Amino acid sequence: MARLDRAALKGRAQTVLGLVDPASLGATLMHEHVICDITPRKYVAEPIEDREIDLCNCWQINYGQTFSGLKWKLNQPDVVTGELREMVAAGGRTVVELTSGGLKPDPKALVDISKASGAQLVMGCGHYVNDYQDPRNHQRKVDDFAAEMVAQVFEGAWGTEIRAGIIGEIGCQAPWTDLERRVMQGAIIAQQETGAAINVHPGRNEDQPQEVADFFLKQGAPMDRMVMSHIDRTIFDETRLLRLADTGCVIEFDLFGQENAYYVHSDIDMPNDATRLRLMRALIGRGHLDRIVISHDICYRTRLTRYGGHGYQHIFANVIPMMRRRGYSETEIDTIMVRTPKRLLTFV
Ligand SMILES: [Zn+2]
Repeated sequence: MARLDRAALKGRAQTVLGLVDPASLGATLMHEHVICDITPRKYVAEPIEDREIDLCNCWQINYGQTFSGLKWKLNQPDVVTGELREMVAAGGRTVVELTSGGLKPDPKALVDISKASGAQLVMGCGHYVNDYQDPRNHQRKVDDFAAEMVAQVFEGAWGTEIRAGIIGEIGCQAPWTDLERRVMQGAIIAQQETGAAINVHPGRNEDQPQEVADFFLKQGAPMDRMVMSHIDRTIFDETRLLRLADTGCVIEFDLFGQENAYYVHSDIDMPNDATRLRLMRALIGRGHLDRIVISHDICYRTRLTRYGGHGYQHIFANVIPMMRRRGYSETEIDTIMVRTPKRLLTFV
């Protein structure tokens, strides 16, 4: 397959099935995983039992009472195809699949799943957090990472001819590692060369999103092409949130549907969906309507409907009606679900 160039991509969006008119993207979930393996590294070294997940243990697994190695493996094309069909039936059209290096991306499976489900899939590229990356990456330089991401957009990713339509999720831990900074700088260069948007996964520290945003500002990167993920589990006060949005980046609440207080990584005040909508309202009040996107970031089996979870349909079936009940206008909902994703996924 031929190598695309910037001119071929400009004004278009790129799904795993090829270039599309951005007007066809429709209602879009900006941060999900369809095929992914996020097994914590300690359990790769010492695997735990792959206990079947069912309705009787789903809650216990989510609260860390019981463990199953299967929780972290989204490796069932037939199951996710059915779940994506439910999303399409509920009004969703496009899913941004951000399984980056370290999380076992599988572009060919995404092509099959997109065809079978009717959901458009836009694939990410680049590398996830330090601890998940191939140890050989520690030897690699900024330009090497940049060239790899440019090729993933222009030629194909992970040994295939299937091309990425966005850069990310680019992982950061707290504290931010040297390797992760090099990958991020490579992503910014790749963005300059391709015109793609970048999705950032910040570390679990309430000041790290700002640290990364400041890094982008210092590099002169276009802030309106950068999406900061996982705000829900990272920032809990309006002061930090509004300061971050004032940099011009896009604020992503991407843990919709995850409402349990227990959070495996740390003891935080995990918001519920209503709290998320209230924080979004604060952003809108400050004039940031054009800088908000939402999603579920499904990366655990327990979040699929098959196992007792909410699935990819949750935002369409439950959250959007709640937005209407809570005074969100149709223009606001359309901006968050359609217009801003379309702007971000359109190559510039
Ligand atoms: Zn993710």
